[in-house]
This record gives sequence, C-alpha cells and structure tokens, in this order.
Amino acid sequence: MGQKSIQEVAKNIWEYAEIRFEEHKSARELADYAANLGFKVEFGIGGLKTAFKATYGSGHPVIAILGEYDSLQGLSQKEDTAHKEKGNQENNGHGCGHHLLGSGAMMGAEIAKEYMEKNNLKGTIVYYGCPAEEGGSGKTWMIKNGEFQDVDVALTWHPFPYNGIFSMPTLANYQAYFRFEGKGSHAAASPHLGRSALDAVELMNVGCNFLREHIIQEARLHYAITNTGGISPNVVQPDAEVLYLMRAPKLKQVDEIFERVCDIARGAALMTGTKVKMLFDKGASEYKGNKEVEKVLYKNMVKFDNIKYTDEEIQYAKKFKDTLNENEITSEFGWISIAAGDKWDSIKEMMLKEYIFRGTIPYDENFNRLLPGSTDVGDVSKITPTGQIATACYAIGTPGHSWQNVAQGKSSIAMKGMEFAGKVIGQTAIDILMDKDLFEKIRKDFEKNREEYGSPIKYETNPIDL
Ligand SMILES: [Zn+2]
Repeated sequence: MGQKSIQEVAKNIWEYAEIRFEEHKSARELADYAANLGFKVEFGIGGLKTAFKATYGSGHPVIAILGEYDSLQGLSQKEDTAHKEKGNQENNGHGCGHHLLGSGAMMGAEIAKEYMEKNNLKGTIVYYGCPAEEGGSGKTWMIKNGEFQDVDVALTWHPFPYNGIFSMPTLANYQAYFRFEGKGSHAAASPHLGRSALDAVELMNVGCNFLREHIIQEARLHYAITNTGGISPNVVQPDAEVLYLMRAPKLKQVDEIFERVCDIARGAALMTGTKVKMLFDKGASEYKGNKEVEKVLYKNMVKFDNIKYTDEEIQYAKKFKDTLNENEITSEFGWISIAAGDKWDSIKEMMLKEYIFRGTIPYDENFNRLLPGSTDVGDVSKITPTGQIATACYAIGTPGHSWQNVAQGKSSIAMKGMEFAGKVIGQTAIDILMDKDLFEKIRKDFEKNREEYGSPIKYETNPIDL
C-alpha cells in the first residue's frame, strides 16, 4: 500500500473524531504512517492502549516529538460550514485541532529523520503518540508508567488562530469523581426512609461555590454532574455522582484545594446521611517551557512564517471571522499585547482588519503570563527541557473548543498551519542534533532551573472511602 500524505492522515483523524482513550483508529493511522517511513513502532506503551512510540536512530541526544489525536465530546460539526450544523462524525469533533497536532508533529519527525539519514547524524528521534490530552492527562500516566525517561529534549505544538511561541505557564490540575450513596425510597409515601444522594451532590456544589471566594484568584474550580440518580422525582435518589476539576498555578496549591473539596464532600455526606467515595481520575502539572529551546523554535518560526494565502482562503477565513463577536475576536489581545511589546500596534491592526494571522508574535523570554488552561505537556516539561509553538490554523479569533474550530479543521488554512508547525519542529530537532554546544546549553539551562517532580497521580484509580 502506498504511503498516504500527512494531510490525508490529519483529515482521516478529523473524521474518526475519537475521544479520550478510545483513539484506536487515530493512533493506528499515525503509527502506520511512521512504520511506512521506517520508524520502529511500539504500540500500547505507558500502560495505555492507544499510546505508541515510533523511534528512529540510536543513542543520545534523544529528541522526543509529542503528538495528540483525541477529539472532544459533543462537538460533531459539518466541515467548512459557517454555521452550527452536526457533521458526519458520530457525536464528537476535533474542536482543539488535535488531528492537526498529531499529524504536524509527525511531519516534524519525518523531516528530522530524513535529514539524519541523509547526513548520517547520530541520535534518536522518538515520536510519542499521546492519547487523552483532553480530560485524561495521557502523558502524566505515560510518565508514571516509565515513559519519557531517556528523553533529552521534547518538542511539540498546538493549533491556534495565531503564530507564536507557547511559552506561557499553564495551570496544574486534578480531576476526581465524588460518588454519593444514599437510600432509595418512595418520595411521597416514605421520604423519611430515604437518604438522597442527589441532595448530597447539590450540597457539595453549594459548599464548593462558597469555597471559591476563599481560594487564590488564579485557581479554578469546575464541576459536572455525571449521575443525577435517575430522572424520577418520585424516587429518593439512591446514588449520584459529580466530577470535579480543580486547577491552580502550582500542583501544591491544587493539593490544598483538593483537600478542602474532599472535606466539603464529607460534610455533604454527613448532612444527608449518605456515604461518599472519591475516585481519582487524572492530574497534570503546570507547564514550564525551556527558554533555550524556545529561542531555537522562534528562530525557525521566523524563518518559515512567510506563508502565502489565496484570495479564496482569505474569503473562507472571513466567513468564519464574521460569525464571531468583538469579545471573541479580541479575547486573546491581553497577553498578545504584552508579548508583542512595541510590535503590538501593527499586530493589533492586522488582527482587527485581516482574517488570517500573518507573521509571528515576537518572543520575549521574560514573558511569564499565566495561560488559564492546562496541558499534560506540563508533566513532560518537568522532566525534560520542552518547547512548544502555536501556529495559525484557523481564522483570527476562532475560539478553542468551538464549532467554528471543528468546521475549519480540514481546510487548506489548517493544513498550511500544520505544515508550518511540522517544518519548525523538524528544523529545530535538526538544529539540536547538529549543534553540540546548543544541546549542552539547553541541558544546562534545564538542570539549573529544574524543580523536583512528583506525579500528580497520587491515588489508586479505585474508589476510596472519604
Ligand atoms: Zn488542545
């Protein structure tokens, strides 16, 4: 069978739209592509069925290139359509562009491998296929289960509506289920005999909503009720469950908030005469990029960022930008204005007037503003020097996790952004493999700033009595 193009791979993964830990076809698609190139593929690594690694070369330096391929629940959307309309994907959709992420990263691995082959370069390129970035922290599990240990430098990227270095620290997090067990009863005839697990969930949420006022500003607390205990008001709900996601700038702070959330769950159980179990779901550390890696990535972004768009592509982006309100279009202005420094005026004008981002946001190595989201790349960044970039794959202003994001996922704009990322990652890997001094500088900088790493996954995944 002939080799598919990397664009076909990305488009197929967009169609599969598989969610966390179920990315069987998506992972195979990428693994087969790598195997056809001559990479050695190992499937089901790090204790995860849909994780894999594809290795080329031997010895140090070991450069890891990280790919993702999971989609988001409920975001099925018709391609290229500038209004919300369900697509052919069963239910889910690539609203975070991970079909591009996995494929662009693979292109980077391919570029580096070809160069190594041609020039007889020593070292190793490992493509890590990482499942469940969305709500599963796949990389954190992979590290806990022994992966990434011999990696010297890690590179990755993420699709966005702009080009720049993804140097911002992100929030560490924990996600855990709280399962309440009460006693079912006839809600009218014998309510006194019932103990409502749904009451417990509601009281826990009330408690946590009050807690918000007394935690640090940057922390985030969100929940979803994953079991309401049934749809009948005439039955005292015997069981109910709520899923909590807790975030803060440092893992230690998440730990403290988590303890207080557990206390609230205990209190809710006590108030309602129910029992509560905690089931730990996932955790991720805060991200910290390596400045020396970021400098090389930036140099290569500027080298390759002269991307040409046709009038048709500009019109395509316009029709999506026209669906956004001013708040959506300007929502990223805050951090970009700081990062861009004295270039901000011209970048702002371009972002307001045009439809596809041009150029690269200037890189400032002292820029340290928090990005209020989380990524499991955080855990990789704790154990090896890591750099990541953002490239423009969508119309300016397109929000993450939106139908507009899914709709543009197979467009030629998305493909150009993906290939831009692949080129930058590939060239950066080559630069590090070629230049021993650069490699040493990166490692030294990492060791100097290294913080102790403890896995955020501290609990067994069986429910624990609280
Ligand atoms: Zn994402």
